[in-house]
Amino acid sequence: MSKRNALVTGANRGIGREIARQLGEHGFAVWLGCRDREKGEAAAKELRGAGIEADAVVIDVADDDSVREAAAYVGGRITALDALVNNAGMNFGPPPPASGESLDDIRAMFETNTFGPLRVTQAFLPLLRKAKEARIVMATSGLGSIESTLDMTSENWTVGFAGYSASKTALNMFTVKLAKELAPEGIKVNCADPGLSNTELGGYQGKDPKVSAGLAVRLATLPWFGPTGGFFRDDGPDTRPPRQPW
Ligand code: NAP
Repeated sequence: MSKRNALVTGANRGIGREIARQLGEHGFAVWLGCRDREKGEAAAKELRGAGIEADAVVIDVADDDSVREAAAYVGGRITALDALVNNAGMNFGPPPPASGESLDDIRAMFETNTFGPLRVTQAFLPLLRKAKEARIVMATSGLGSIESTLDMTSENWTVGFAGYSASKTALNMFTVKLAKELAPEGIKVNCADPGLSNTELGGYQGKDPKVSAGLAVRLATLPWFGPTGGFFRDDGPDTRPPRQPW
């Protein structure tokens, strides 16, 4: 039987690189989606050194042409895509409160964090549909939770980052819409909040990305009876991932 294929965007560093590594360890042939070819090739080489079948593909998720070209490139080399992890994301920070946050910065975050995953999903859907039961994972954030933003007892109560948070809230809605649309085809679409993680985006505080990656990997490898349209947060590798409030 040929290997299952996975594509992870933003896979040259941070949580994405760990997701790619762990999917490889699960037996997937992994495509590392990276906007910088050299960084992507270096990350893929490192994984191949660990015995993982890994290739880099250039993809800037904020760019229509780049995403289209990446889909054509990967589509020319595999017959089906079993798992897509829309991990690439960005943040400017810390910004002033919402009333003063730069619209240009907010637009840029939506382009990458919200339209990016939708753009990539749309472009790769023909290839995902060729898999037996494809899985799509969206890397979201607990900051996108409206309920916890309104909860005075939540750590989100005092957090700003309005533009970033809103970009993830909107992504969550697209996830639910896609999950409902694709459920009859056996394709599951879920949101994974990795939690504060020790990466550039996380400000180098929080969990080891190796731990944070676990939730996306679980959602990318869900069995047929697993959930779809869910918003999950990471709670360590051995527990059932709890649902985030919307
Ligand atoms: P990171 O270490 O800063 O890495 C971000 C990755 O995304 C990099 O590979 C980066 O590529 C890539 N990227 C950014 N814009 C891109 C674009 N337009 N096209 C393609 N790739 C792009 O971030 P991380 O902490 O691993 O975050 C991964 C995901 O988890 C993000 O969606 C983030 O919002 C989410 N998240 C993170 C945390 C946290 O605390 N770290 C918490 C909640 C959610 P370059 O190297 O080329 O810049």
